[in-house]
Amino acid sequence: MKIHEYQAKELFQKFGVPVPQGKVAFSVEEAEKIGAELGRFPVVVKAQIHAGGRGKGGGVKLAKNADEVKKWASSILGMTLVTHQTGPEGRVVKKLLVEEGLPIEKELYLSVLPDRGTAKIVFMASEAGGMDIEEVAAKTPEKIIKVYIDPLVGIKGYHASELAFGLNLAGDLVKQFSAMVSKLYKLCVDYDCSLLEINPLILTKDGSVIALDAKINFDDNALYRHKDILEYRDLDEEDPFEVEASKYELNYIKMPGGNIGNMVNGAGLAMATMDLIQQAGATPANFLDVGGGASAEQVENGFRIILADPSVKGVLINIFGGILRCDRLANGVVEAAKKVGINVPVVIRMEGTNVEEGRRILDESGLNLITAKDVSDAAQKIAAIAKG
Ligand code: GDP
Ligand code: MN
Repeated sequence: MKIHEYQAKELFQKFGVPVPQGKVAFSVEEAEKIGAELGRFPVVVKAQIHAGGRGKGGGVKLAKNADEVKKWASSILGMTLVTHQTGPEGRVVKKLLVEEGLPIEKELYLSVLPDRGTAKIVFMASEAGGMDIEEVAAKTPEKIIKVYIDPLVGIKGYHASELAFGLNLAGDLVKQFSAMVSKLYKLCVDYDCSLLEINPLILTKDGSVIALDAKINFDDNALYRHKDILEYRDLDEEDPFEVEASKYELNYIKMPGGNIGNMVNGAGLAMATMDLIQQAGATPANFLDVGGGASAEQVENGFRIILADPSVKGVLINIFGGILRCDRLANGVVEAAKKVGINVPVVIRMEGTNVEEGRRILDESGLNLITAKDVSDAAQKIAAIAKG
């Protein structure tokens, strides 16, 4: 799960990681009020969306006076912000973070995340922080240093020193930075973060180390033990079909640019099905794994969600009936079709437990369903339909 910068900064404060003073605003008036409360300029007006690259996209502006706060808040709030992380469709900005503008001496990069390869927690840091970090990583990866921490041992002073010296920090900055590193480590572990990133981490002209930006992603599988984080969830930032699917515990992921809806049981089979569709010359519009033990109701909801997507020009149902018996699937499909109304061709490939019963239900339903004899036949048929 992703959260906004202003929420990540709230957590930083809880853990004692220094951030600029500021508040979230939902309207231009609120932004102006916060700007006035800060009491000095410059003030920074920042778009809050679940994507980075806002600065380059025009979503972060420095206001020199109250008029400029109003001007930037009015232009950023409601804008469709396009960044390299939003895709070409962009994101509508519905919230702003208004904070004190700080005098920047240097922009560093710092992140913490679990590293699967080594099964450790890794800190990544670079002196070349700021808006071009992706380019640094691609062209001069040696400018990014990595320090690995065994979670059973925990973070030690030497880990922080290695990072601090790698960043060429000296004197009191080392002290401030090292304290911050331990706090970030604790936050990352305590909250089961999958990524915690500060870019830029700044050194100010008056000698402080401050997290100017803040990004945190959480491991969804651990959210059950972090009820406070669940409150940070912002449904505005999620695909509406994915939000709907999550209500029924369906694993649905929208695939931009595709036109074939997919309903499959099991993630492996879903991946293989998407490959076959692609091979047959069509493109999947979604990934939907109804799971091994799906109920007729889940199948019905999955089907309804797929059909609600206007880019779907045909649906391929590929089920291997193990725990999810074929008759149950067939009932779910028939129920959904009756309620929702099928507006596109549907190809079904079904094998496994109670397959005869499942086929009988589909045949007797009177619905216009195309049955396939095997998976590649199904992919060919749906691709032919998509091509018209
Ligand atoms: P991102 O582009 O989405 O990563 O947004 P950031 O929060 O990283 O902001 C982008 C850039 O805006 C930073 O790299 C800074 O150069 C600049 N910026 C943000 N806040 C301040 C500030 O308080 N003072 C100054 N001078 N620049 C700022
Ligand atoms: Mn940033």
